[in-house]
Amino acid sequence: MVSAAAGRRPDSLALIDSGTERRLTWAQADAAVNAEARRLTEAGLHPGDRVVVRLPTSTAFAVTLFAVVRAGGIAVPLSPQAPAAEIRPLAEHCGATLVVSHDPDAEELADEVTVLPAPDATGEAAEPVAPVGSGEDIAVLSYTSGTTGPPRGVMLSHRALLANVEQLSAVRPAVLQASDRVFIAIPLFHVYGLGPGLLQAAAVGATVVLSERFDARRALADCAEFRVTTIAGVPAMYAEFAALDADELGAGLATVRRMTSGAAPLHPKVLAAIRAATGMDVYEGYGLTEAAPVVTTTLVTGYPKPGSVGRPLPGIELRLVDSDGTAGPVPSDPDDLVDSFDEEDGGTGLVALRGANLFSGYWPDGAHGPDAEGWFRTGDVGYLDTDGDLHLVDRANDLIIVNGFNVYPNEVESVLTELPEVIEAAVVGVVDERSGEAVKAVVVVAPGASLSAQQVVDHCAGKLAGYKVPHSVEFADSLPHSATGKLRRLRLR
Ligand code: ATP
Repeated sequence: MVSAAAGRRPDSLALIDSGTERRLTWAQADAAVNAEARRLTEAGLHPGDRVVVRLPTSTAFAVTLFAVVRAGGIAVPLSPQAPAAEIRPLAEHCGATLVVSHDPDAEELADEVTVLPAPDATGEAAEPVAPVGSGEDIAVLSYTSGTTGPPRGVMLSHRALLANVEQLSAVRPAVLQASDRVFIAIPLFHVYGLGPGLLQAAAVGATVVLSERFDARRALADCAEFRVTTIAGVPAMYAEFAALDADELGAGLATVRRMTSGAAPLHPKVLAAIRAATGMDVYEGYGLTEAAPVVTTTLVTGYPKPGSVGRPLPGIELRLVDSDGTAGPVPSDPDDLVDSFDEEDGGTGLVALRGANLFSGYWPDGAHGPDAEGWFRTGDVGYLDTDGDLHLVDRANDLIIVNGFNVYPNEVESVLTELPEVIEAAVVGVVDERSGEAVKAVVVVAPGASLSAQQVVDHCAGKLAGYKVPHSVEFADSLPHSATGKLRRLRLR
């Protein structure tokens, strides 16, 4: 991918580190990847070996990832922020033999492991290294966020990753062009930053501006300085943008022509605030690690629809299946569709997918991958509206059952965040002797605002059926989030 970009656009800028302002052209990036692939091979890398890449979002990350894959290894990107104690079980799980990291605790990641510092990625000419893996070989082993349970090692082949890049490239008008400059401040160790961010840019030879962490004001300064045209972000970033002064935001994003969001639900309030300040829409997508990762986006229709994650990319089949896995056809009769949470099961189902972008099962043995016909059932519950746009209701695992009635946390959380005092809210099920489970709300109140549990309950009682109204309310200073801003409900429970 990098060598193809280097062949077509050798002197165009490939990677920019916003912090150090280090810049590599595609020809320099290709040379740096060759040098790093050689260093890894000299350090003992054999085809199929797992190499933990534990680096921040930076040119060093990009070069290392491409180099591991070029040398035939399997890249295992893991969070540089997470403590060694959290990473070690994953490094052991995949039997990593090499770790690329500049953290002093890297030695603690596994017993029999060679630790290499981050490459200096200078891009001086290096002998080309012939790529080793292809097709069904695993290129990246990506651990899921661990939102719902222990992280699972998702095996992504060359075929799956390239397929998703091609599926995205087939959206018209083109999502990304060679002349684009993409801003990435989301973690590259998560497949959202990696696939539609880095790999997509490499495929078209665009420029990637990389920032180790996100700070709204600094991001605006970077966008202006590096003339960014596209932002690949997550809802938490756009919420921070939306909290800025509208003039400041509009000026900071003057060169930007497209913004996309994924990984978690984008609040319609945020979408509206950004549109008011910039005149631009944020296009929401839905993806998961197992799909390498993008499944749907509102870019397919070209208009954002608040509450919807859009339609499947060309080449991805999507249908809704019932809870025992029986695939039902996608409902075509509008009467079979629901447009509110209150019509239980009237067209909601588990999202099932088929496409060349799907993973090869979980590490190590490929268990629980797509079935014999190529379908994979996600854990997400959704419905299709009359236009055929997908709406996600919630994750099946988060379902709370109160006296036999289904409660999806997302619905209750949306009602809670309508309260002006509430910055963020989470809902979980707690064991209850009488009703089996009961709804518990955890609420973060804006600084200086005051709100009582009774006011929270009264507000919900006016908007929701009785069994959905929180049985108990707890106030917290903040809620636990993953690196891409997902609520960590498991930890909350
Ligand atoms: P784990 O499987 O370990 O619990 P995870 O499911 O969070 O972690 P990821 O692959 O990082 O692992 O996340 C994919 C999930 O993120 C999807 O299955 C879906 O639930 C959620 N998601 C992605 N995009 C959106 C979106 N636009 N709106 C709502 N939820 C989304």
